[in-house]
Amino acid sequence: MNRKRHLLLDRVRWSLTAFALSFTTSFAQASDRASVSLTAKLAILVDKYPESLVSATSTHVVTTDRSHLLVDDRLAKTYQEKLDAADIEDSLLQSYATGCPHRLPEKNDDPGRIRSQPLLDALYGNSRKTLEGTLVPVRWFGTTVRMTRLHGAAAALRRVRQRLEQDMHARAWLTPPAGTYNWRYIAGTKRRSMHSYGAAIDVHISKAQYWRWDRKTGRERFQPASFPAAIVSAFEAEGFIWGGRWFHYDSMHFEFRPELIEIGLRATQGGKRCE
Ligand SMILES: [Zn+2]
Repeated sequence: MNRKRHLLLDRVRWSLTAFALSFTTSFAQASDRASVSLTAKLAILVDKYPESLVSATSTHVVTTDRSHLLVDDRLAKTYQEKLDAADIEDSLLQSYATGCPHRLPEKNDDPGRIRSQPLLDALYGNSRKTLEGTLVPVRWFGTTVRMTRLHGAAAALRRVRQRLEQDMHARAWLTPPAGTYNWRYIAGTKRRSMHSYGAAIDVHISKAQYWRWDRKTGRERFQPASFPAAIVSAFEAEGFIWGGRWFHYDSMHFEFRPELIEIGLRATQGGKRCE
C-alpha cells in the first residue's frame, strides 16, 4: 500500500473512532447508560458475594443456605414504593457512574439508595447479634472503626485508607469519622441503613451536607465537585459507592456495594477518566 493511501485510511479510521466515541457518549447520557442486561447484573451480583450467593436465574438468586430470593416482584412501583420495598431487580436498576463527580444528578437519580432488604439480610445477617459477630477493627487515621469482615468489606476499607494515607488534604475530610456500624433505621424511615450491616462509613461530619438537613434550613443543594475527588476515587476503586452522587445526597456517606461499581463500569465501558 502506498503512503498516501495509508494516511488516508488512517484518517478515515480516526474519524470513525471519534464518531463512535461521540455517539457512545451522547447515547450513554441520553439513556443513563442503562445497557447492562438483568442477567449480566445478576451474574455480577453473585460474583461479588461468593460467601453468600451461589447462582442466579431470571427469577431467583440462590444463597449458600439454599434460600431462593425473588429477583423481580413484577409490581409497578413508584420511586417511593421502590425505596420502601425493593426487590433485587429494583436495587440494581439505577446505574452508578464513577469518574469525576461533577455532574449534578437528575431528580430521584440515587443509584444504590434503593436497597433490597431480603438480599442484604441474606448477605450480612438479619439480627444485631449475628451482625456484631462479623465486625472487625479497621484503623482509620488516628482512630479505629468497626466494619463487617463479610465479603471483604473491612479489607476494602483498609485499602481505601492505604490509598489516602499520604494525602494530607484528604485527611481533614476523613477523620474523625462520624460512624460506621450502627444498628439503626435510616432517618425518617423503617428501612435498615447500610450502617446496620456494618458495611458503610460516614467520614468527617463538619463539612457534610445531607438533603434532609438542607431541606429544613434552606441551604443550597450539595455540589459534588466541592468534595475532594481523590477521596471519592479511592473509595470507588475499592467497591464503595458515594452518597454525594445522589439526588437525595448524603455527602459523608460511603457504602460497600461492589456490584454497583462493577455494573456501572460495565455500562460506561470502563468508566470515565477524571480530568
Ligand atoms: Zn452514612
